[in-house]
Amino acid sequence: MSASSSSRITPGALGILGGTFDPIHFGHLRLAQEVADALSLSEVRFIPAGTPPHRATPQTSAVHRVAMVKEAIADNPLFVLDERETRREGLSYSVDTLAALRAEQGAARPLVLIMGADAFLAFHRWHRWPDIFSLAHIAVAHRPGAALMQINDAALAQEFARRRADNVEALWQAPAGRIAEVPITALDISATAIRAALLSRRSARYLTPPAVLAYIDCNYLFYKGKL
Ligand code: ATP
Repeated sequence: MSASSSSRITPGALGILGGTFDPIHFGHLRLAQEVADALSLSEVRFIPAGTPPHRATPQTSAVHRVAMVKEAIADNPLFVLDERETRREGLSYSVDTLAALRAEQGAARPLVLIMGADAFLAFHRWHRWPDIFSLAHIAVAHRPGAALMQINDAALAQEFARRRADNVEALWQAPAGRIAEVPITALDISATAIRAALLSRRSARYLTPPAVLAYIDCNYLFYKGKL
């Protein structure tokens, strides 16, 4: 068999960014872009949570949160919206989403679950969290206000020490199971602060893309009562 007929074109690693996106903002977009660049990901899936198990129910309906993600990522060919969690009945568990993605993508393609340090510090509270290491790598990015040195849970600290990758290449020796720390531009932006700004009639300009702001305005989101 010739080299060309035996070689397959394999897609690069797939990044996965879950969140409530209530609303999506530049913190999410830079996180996805900078991790994609650092790890040469060939795609990042944005997966809005349906009913998230680890936190309060989002203020905004899934229809609006999905629509805002669609607006925010429309001009980036690397970014793809994945609506599976908002279409699923009941709680959205990341472990189920990752198991489904693993089944679709095959055993060999590296999957990389992307999260900010604040999310990683609470990772030991996620449903069946140790099982996630057999499904995906984790890329943890620094986020203002959350330091990875502050892992309080002993089991999580142990996994972090054991699985931490010294360099990016270490990630590609297996399709899952390592943790990479990725330094990104520190942007102290949160959906909570955006909601608070809008509620008190302050502008959210320059915190989220203009298309998201326009969507928020058109649909009177986050304001108390209609304008
Ligand atoms: P909220 O303020 O409502 O809690 P949020 O701004 O933290 O929301 P989420 O949708 O909960 O946004 O976050 C989804 C993921 O994006 C999480 O892994 C979170 O750590 C990460 N993330 C959000 N904002 C930033 C940011 N500014 N810098 C780095 N990571 C971020």
